[in-house]
Amino acid sequence: EVRVRFAPSPTGALHIGGVRTALFNYLFAKKMGGKMLLRIEDTDQKRFVPGAEEYIIESLKWVGIHIDEGQGVGGPHAPYRQSERKEIYQKYVQQLLDEGKAYYAFDTDIELEAMRQRLKAAGAANTSYNALTRTQMRNSLTLNEDQTKQLIDAGTPYVIRIKVPMKEEIRFKDLIRDWVVVHANTLDDKVLMKSDGLPTYHLANIVDDHLMQITHVIRGDEWLPSAPLHILLYKFLGWEAPQFAHLPLILKPDLLDEKGKIIEERHGKLSKRDADEMGFPIFPLTWNGTNADGEDITSVGYREAGYYKEALINFLALLGWNDGTDKELFSLDELIDSFTLGRIHKTGSKFDIRKAKWFNQHYLRQKPDSELAEGLINALQQKNITCSQEKASKIVHLMKERVTFPQEIHEQIEFLFQEPAVYEESVVQSKWNQESVTLLTAFKDELVTITEFNAEIAKATLHTVLEKAGVKIGKVMPALRLALTGAGHGPDLMQIMDILGKEETSNRIEKAID
Ligand code: GLU
Repeated sequence: EVRVRFAPSPTGALHIGGVRTALFNYLFAKKMGGKMLLRIEDTDQKRFVPGAEEYIIESLKWVGIHIDEGQGVGGPHAPYRQSERKEIYQKYVQQLLDEGKAYYAFDTDIELEAMRQRLKAAGAANTSYNALTRTQMRNSLTLNEDQTKQLIDAGTPYVIRIKVPMKEEIRFKDLIRDWVVVHANTLDDKVLMKSDGLPTYHLANIVDDHLMQITHVIRGDEWLPSAPLHILLYKFLGWEAPQFAHLPLILKPDLLDEKGKIIEERHGKLSKRDADEMGFPIFPLTWNGTNADGEDITSVGYREAGYYKEALINFLALLGWNDGTDKELFSLDELIDSFTLGRIHKTGSKFDIRKAKWFNQHYLRQKPDSELAEGLINALQQKNITCSQEKASKIVHLMKERVTFPQEIHEQIEFLFQEPAVYEESVVQSKWNQESVTLLTAFKDELVTITEFNAEIAKATLHTVLEKAGVKIGKVMPALRLALTGAGHGPDLMQIMDILGKEETSNRIEKAID
């Protein structure tokens, strides 16, 4: 059975790239009829951010990534929070120590820094703690057993490091990157257990992936450099390694002008700073908290910005994957159906928020009018405006094709509930004249004669007036729009009149020509 996991560290709000990682894991699990796990990797207490775990769980819920087993759900391998699995890791570290695959290191920060300076001064390119340098340091490989025991008994702080072999080729076949081959002499003796007795990410991660019977590790490219160390750890512990699939980076968008022309090409990994600078969300949900460095962060999420989860999922799925055709619109079920790891791109994908908006517009148009109408009624209520069901339906009909986000509907139709306080000056200058006033007066007088009123009748009435006067419709439309809405552009005028009703249409014309 396929078992995959999403293993975020609760170091702040979940980045959109993390959501994509979770999504690809989920799609693969569902496609294969397997299980999706959620594990919280919180062994780095210094970077722990309160609320981040809840945020992660809520975000996954919102986008519709269902967790089969893990934090928040439970399961046979509980606990799923690494900080609660301390004893488990200790056991395996002890095993590595006993077998000579790991060792105690007592070096202080000052000693470590001195080592780096010494190596730098000698012109060494590599200043890491490794098979060469460890022979010069204070650890259980250079000290004898008694000395080591004494230091430990005296309560001297220590870490436990992996003893990377001198000569060894480490290789594995990544499902996306193909063969990765690394010589052990490029690796350092990474810390497995910190002085606080908690494991580092590397150790906890592979112990848990093994115990939780993970078959496929699907994660971001930034972990590819760690993979050889992980492979070595699996070997040291005598375990079979899972399959690896390292996802391509999400790349910075280029800087564009309003028309979409490139002002500046940009390279490298998408960051929160890009999002802040260019004004798009970087988190799925609004985050009001700190990051791992303790800085206060307030950032509006995709959900709160008016993105639909269907749009976000579709957008993220295509950031680094396609089904081999030109098809772009995929529901979640369709994604599950067509997803294969083999079609994940090897190179990074440029982030383009215009694409996300395009998807959103598409999914908004798919929404039933009744749902949008309900949202509209609620939004207006917040502004103390009551709007009938019938009126809301008409407004939705009027606006649906014109907006990208649902909230734009109520933001753009306030004029329907409030007569214009000002008239757009440039339109007044160019389109308001004696002729338009005469025509509008005639239209207003004609309105008095009719009893029923709707968009069609409004149009017919207007045409009657225009025919009588012998002028084309273009002569009066801008002025009529100005009188009714105060603006030079907007949605269909006949429908606007319908929504305003005969009385209000009349009143607004009267006020304008006054
Ligand atoms: N805790 C790691 C992270 O936050 C997980 C990396 C992995 O999936 O192995 O990204």
